[in-house]
Amino acid sequence: MAESVFDVAILGAGISGLSFAHHAARAGLRCLLLEEAPSPGGCIHTARTGDGFWFELGAHTLYNSYGALLDIMAACGLLDAIQGRSKAPYRLLVDGEVRSVPSQLALGELFASAWRAFTLRKPGRTVGDYYGRLVGRRNWRRVFSALLAAVPSQPADDFPAEMLFKRRPRRKEFPRTFTLDGGLSTLVERLARQERLTLRTSAGAVALERVPPEFRVSCADGSSALARHLALALPPDRGARLLASVLPATAAALQRVRTTNIDSTGVVMARVDLPFPRLAGLVPLDDVFFSAVSRDVVPDARRRALTFHFRSGLGLDDRLARIARVTGARRDRFAETAEHRTCLPSPALGHTDIVRAIDESIAASRVYVTGNFFGGLAIEDCVLRSAAEAQRLVRESG
Ligand SMILES: Cc1cc2nc3c(=O)[nH]c(=O)nc-3n(C[C@H](O)[C@H](O)[C@H](O)COP(=O)(O)OP(=O)(O)OC[C@H]3O[C@@H](n4cnc5c(N)ncnc54)[C@H](O)[C@@H]3O)c2cc1C
Repeated sequence: MAESVFDVAILGAGISGLSFAHHAARAGLRCLLLEEAPSPGGCIHTARTGDGFWFELGAHTLYNSYGALLDIMAACGLLDAIQGRSKAPYRLLVDGEVRSVPSQLALGELFASAWRAFTLRKPGRTVGDYYGRLVGRRNWRRVFSALLAAVPSQPADDFPAEMLFKRRPRRKEFPRTFTLDGGLSTLVERLARQERLTLRTSAGAVALERVPPEFRVSCADGSSALARHLALALPPDRGARLLASVLPATAAALQRVRTTNIDSTGVVMARVDLPFPRLAGLVPLDDVFFSAVSRDVVPDARRRALTFHFRSGLGLDDRLARIARVTGARRDRFAETAEHRTCLPSPALGHTDIVRAIDESIAASRVYVTGNFFGGLAIEDCVLRSAAEAQRLVRESG
C-alpha cells in the first residue's frame, strides 16, 4: 500500500499537539496527528458515565487569563460551551482531618514575610526559595510546600519559580475560572475534528527516519506515513528516544528534562453516600497523594465525584482504600471508579539552558518541538509554545 504524504506529522495528541495542529491546519497544511493512546487528550481526560455525568481525571480548570486558548476556542465556536466554576474552598488534610488553610499558618511569620512580594524577583530562584521567603520558612515547610506540590502533583520545591503562576492579562468578559459543558475533553474533541487534520489513535510513533525530502514515521499499529515536516508534542523522554538517530543534539537536550508519572483515580458517589464537606480540592500535608480535586464546583443534584492524584507505584486497590479512608465513604458505595496515568516534567534551575539547547538544535531542521516543558506546565503555556512553533512551520513551509 502506498504511504500517505502529509505536510506535517505531529506526534502526540495532548493539548500541545492539538493546538499545533489547529494552527497548521488553518494555515492550509495537511496534518497527520498520531496518538499512542486509544483517545486524544493526554493530561486532559474527562471520564463520563453512561447518563451524562462527567468528572475530570486530569486537568480541571481554565482561566480567563488563557488568552491564546480563548482565541482557539473562539475560532472553533466553543465559547458558548464555557461553564463558570462555582466557588468552593480548597482545604488541607491534617492528621486525617479536613482543616482550613489559615488555621494551619503561623500568621505572625506570614505578615512579617509578605512585604517581600514587592521586591523579590523570580528569575534564578527555586519555588522553595522564592515562596519560602514570601511566607516564612516555617509556613513553607509545614503548609505551602504541600500546597504548591498539589499544582504539578509532585514536590515543587526545586522547580524554577518562573515556571509556576504566571501573571497574564485577564479577559473579564469570561468567568475567572471555568470548565466546559461536558468537561475539558469537549475542547479535545472539537480540536480533533478539523479540516485538513487526520487523527490516528492507538498509533504511537515507534521509529523515525529521514527519507529526503521527507521524514518517515512508523507506528505501533504497523502503519507508516511520510511528512515534509515533523512536530513532536510528546513527553520529553519519549521525544528523546524517537529523535536519537534523526537529531541527536535535540535528543540529548530532551533527555535532560526529568519527568514524573502521576496515577489519578476518580470515584463517583451518590451525594448521600459521601459524608464529606463540599470543597474544590483537598491537599494533604504528607500523604501518598498530592491533591484531590472535586466536581463540587459544577454541582450535580444527585452525585459527587472526587479525583485523587497519587504518586506512582501504588496499586488501584490501595488507592481506592486510601480514598475510602480519607473521605469516610464505604468502598461498596463507589458508583463508578476510573483511573488515568499522566506524565509531567520535573524542571529544575538551569531549565532555560535546556530549552535554549533544544531551540538551537532544531533551527532549520524542519522539526518542531512543543509541550509543557517550555514556558510552564499550564495549558496556556502549551498553547503559546505550539502557536510559536506552528508559526515557524508556516514560515518555513511557504
Ligand atoms: C493531574 C493534572 C492536573 C492538571 N490540571 C491543570 C489545570 O487544571 N489547568 C491547567 O492549565 N493545566 C493543568 N495541568 C497541566 C496540563 O494539563 C498539562 O501540562 C498539559 O495538558 C500537557 O499537554 P501536552 O500536550 O504537552 O502533553 P500530554 O497531555 O502529556 O500529551 C502528550 C501525548 O503524547 C502521547 N504520546 C506519548 N508517546 C507517544 C508516541 N510515541 N506517539 C504518539 N503519541 C504519544 C500521549 O499519549 C499523550 O496523549 C494538569 C496536569 C495534570 C497531570
